[in-house]
Amino acid sequence: MKKLVVAIDGHSSCGKSTTAKLVAKDLGYAYIDTGAMYRAVTLYFLEHYIDFTNPKKIDQALQEIHITFERNTKSNRNEVFLNGLNVEDEIRKMYISNKVSEVSCIPAVRHAMVSQQQKMGRKRGVVMDGRDIGTTVFPDAEVKVFMTADVDTRARRRQQELLDKGELVPLDDIIANLQKRDLIDSTRKESPLVRAEDAEILDTSHITIDEQVDFVLHQVSAKLLEQELAKRK
Ligand code: C5P
Repeated sequence: MKKLVVAIDGHSSCGKSTTAKLVAKDLGYAYIDTGAMYRAVTLYFLEHYIDFTNPKKIDQALQEIHITFERNTKSNRNEVFLNGLNVEDEIRKMYISNKVSEVSCIPAVRHAMVSQQQKMGRKRGVVMDGRDIGTTVFPDAEVKVFMTADVDTRARRRQQELLDKGELVPLDDIIANLQKRDLIDSTRKESPLVRAEDAEILDTSHITIDEQVDFVLHQVSAKLLEQELAKRK
């Protein structure tokens, strides 16, 4: 059966990664968390004191950044490596969330990440989540879903995730961070966060993770059926 690209975009912390991971598992597809890539670049820039306004330093730094995903056999999840070092936990921390949208606005950063993401998905059979997958990275993705949820729900979920990792952050700080990131992400010049015209909207404010996953899997089945019928014509 032909393998598809499933693009899941949307606002921060509305369950994209959780949904994408489970959809990929169900389909036997690869899962690529593109937000993790921008977070890893941000970590590198902060650790190396890269001036976000210095294009030369940024270009040099991008040459030195190698991001890979490797499966952790114990936790059975894909984890992010920056130049061979596991940074999965570090990149989720609040100090990275506070800077990542500034870094992901930089055109050179976007070009480098988008081209790497296109290579990762060139054989198709991937579920990718991010902000610009259905518009810029894979405008030809067969399935596109745009996820959203009200900000309070998103902030509470994010707070719990951080707490599970041992970081206690006040709800107001999380709400401020989500709103700031959404604003920067959706107003930047280069591949802003917008719904692709052909993306299905999924509001996750009042539904369970199982329902989110079922929604995406239903889109996939419908697309596969459509392709099968077209072949028989
Ligand atoms: O998905 P996550 O919240 O981890 O993404 C972190 C940040 O990375 C986003 O707020 C956004 O600034 C950036 N991002 C992006 N394009 C993507 C994925 C993430 O600009 N495809």
